[in-house]
Amino acid sequence: MKFALLILSTLLIFSMTKITDAQSPKEFAEVWDKNHISNKPASNNRHKDVQDYLEKLKTLGIKVEEVGKSYEEREIYQVEWGKGKTKVFMWSQMHGDEPTATPALMDMFAFLQTNLKKKKWVRELEKTLTIRAIPMLNPDGAEKFKRRNAQNIDINRDTVNLETPEGRLLLKLRNEWQPDIGFNLHNQQELTTVGNTTNQASISVLAVAANPETPLSEDQYRNRRICSLIVQALNQFIKGNIAKYDDGYTPNAFGDTFSDLGTATILIETGGLHGKDEMYLIKLNFIAFLTALQSLVDGSEKTADIKIYENLPENSGGRLHNYIFRNASVVRLVEAKKDFEEDESETDKTEPEKVYKTTIADVAINRRRRRAEITNPPIYVRRFGDLSNHKGLTEFNVKGYYIISTYGLIQNGRGGDFLFYKTTRKLDWSAENFTTKYKPDAVFSRGKWTKPLPK
Ligand SMILES: [Zn+2]
Repeated sequence: MKFALLILSTLLIFSMTKITDAQSPKEFAEVWDKNHISNKPASNNRHKDVQDYLEKLKTLGIKVEEVGKSYEEREIYQVEWGKGKTKVFMWSQMHGDEPTATPALMDMFAFLQTNLKKKKWVRELEKTLTIRAIPMLNPDGAEKFKRRNAQNIDINRDTVNLETPEGRLLLKLRNEWQPDIGFNLHNQQELTTVGNTTNQASISVLAVAANPETPLSEDQYRNRRICSLIVQALNQFIKGNIAKYDDGYTPNAFGDTFSDLGTATILIETGGLHGKDEMYLIKLNFIAFLTALQSLVDGSEKTADIKIYENLPENSGGRLHNYIFRNASVVRLVEAKKDFEEDESETDKTEPEKVYKTTIADVAINRRRRRAEITNPPIYVRRFGDLSNHKGLTEFNVKGYYIISTYGLIQNGRGGDFLFYKTTRKLDWSAENFTTKYKPDAVFSRGKWTKPLPK
């Protein structure tokens, strides 16, 4: 009896000490603020930057090995940390222009290694888990900052055809090692929104469900609980900006395929967060990863409330834009027949088949995904009309101004600079070289007023 009590108390003390130095999301944030090896916005990283980061990990004593090559023969690396039985497999940037998780993984490994002697929970993690990660699975795409690989194939639709060396490598690494948990790390469009709000979905998670015809496994339930903990953690920083990623089953995508094969996978998609830079998003990823890993040793995974994940609003989109110009006078060239009766005065007598017509409308303008180093990304008209239930991250009231593009009248998809003219001016819309003949009163170019609206 005495002996049993001794064991019990030892166990209790052990589990208590194990939990006492577990770190809160806020502490992870503070730790990252003080020290991280990522040193530039994720979107600016090339293959060479990943190699530089990996050199730093190696000097910390972390195992890094080349495990394959991309189509254009760039090295693909695997980082390994931990000696435990539970195998965690993480991979990032299989889409070349989705970079946030890559430096976050570097920061995570650096943290784990440098805290091995300082934190009991990290030591426990080392004993319990083995983590393998492939940072930047698609270095060719990353080099050109494009989604697909050098063969112009979407690696995340290649689990069946296996045409890409990167996809073949990822599948091989999984099949040889048979990990217990997968983390599939991506970025989504910065204008993705949360449920029926116009809040940016800065982070979206998904406990990948695998084939809908098979019931959820215990590992998939575990992943839902882990997702709940990630949401709870990130709620302390970006409440209202977290969503659940679309749950559709895609049999030739890696998350679904791995889940089917027995590696239940968690998808993390990083979106945008207006007013915060990319480094902040790296920090959020860092917090999410460490929260998830820590939960596997401090017991929090077992008791997490699955409903927090299940009740998360889903990703949505289409109603948030980079810029909205409110109350603009949009000039359109329309069929005279249709509009003749309602607006006879504006009929152009020399060209009776077409007529210029002005309508008051809101014009939504989006920008294309680009590296942070490109400070003037191209912009284009996403839509125009009554956009009262839409939101612009930045909005301007341009009442009393015509709006056109340097390439012509406002049309969906049309880019260029946007030119503004006072509606009190007499303008001949059919004039040749219109934009040189009439000097605009204001110019909005690639996200900036290069000639501001007159006061
Ligand atoms: Zn992606």
